[in-house]
Amino acid sequence: MRLPFGRTRPMTISSIEAESSTTHFVHTDVVNWVLLEQHGQLTLIDGGYPGQADQVIESIERIGRSAEDIRGALLTHAHVDHVGGLARLQARFGFDVYMDHVEVDHALRRHLQQANALNLAPQAVNPRLWSWLMKTVPLGVLDRSGLAEASSFPADRHEPLDLPGAPVPVSSPGHTDGHSAYLVAGGRALVSGDALVSDHELSRFTGPQCIPSLFQHDEPTARRSVERFTDLDADILLPGHGPIHRGSVAAAAREALAR
Ligand SMILES: [Zn+2]
Repeated sequence: MRLPFGRTRPMTISSIEAESSTTHFVHTDVVNWVLLEQHGQLTLIDGGYPGQADQVIESIERIGRSAEDIRGALLTHAHVDHVGGLARLQARFGFDVYMDHVEVDHALRRHLQQANALNLAPQAVNPRLWSWLMKTVPLGVLDRSGLAEASSFPADRHEPLDLPGAPVPVSSPGHTDGHSAYLVAGGRALVSGDALVSDHELSRFTGPQCIPSLFQHDEPTARRSVERFTDLDADILLPGHGPIHRGSVAAAAREALAR
């Protein structure tokens, strides 16, 4: 049965070449994910909404690989638009999904740190809320299920992980308690998840910004995480929402904090 709205969102892929790996940033108008490709194997970072699992596969095919090439996946945080597609792909292809140890219980849905109807109610007069819901309800925004299995990183999170592309976790709690960003492309690019975005459906402006308050679990802590991004040398921002942002990540973080 086909749903009344399209499940496949418009998609663009930006590729960044590093010494021995390629980082592919997959941007859709509702959420983004990232593929790290090295020696024919892949690390998938986040996986879109539940209804985007097939679109993740399509993005992998567009870069000339197949879902069987996924050696492992990383999660920035366990909100439905990042974990939903990943859960379906994990069930189908059986790879491990790694995250900050604090995020594991959230990913397994032992608790939920996600905006609910009460948080959204004050936005009821905002036409952007309704256009966002029109797009995201068919993709499964109301789905409350999580991963069947979730693994935490090894204890020293500042070391590159033993996965294609050697991503380095950057702890960035606040948006959720166990949110993690990742330095990729040899430290040139930051996969920032929802700690720092370049646009959002409910935002009134574009450019580097913190995600709208109603989606933040702990806003003061989230802002402190963005403050720590000002110490980074990366010059490409690969956010969870909004387009790729080329330019100093530290400057982008300062811009977001100043808004
Ligand atoms: Zn989120």
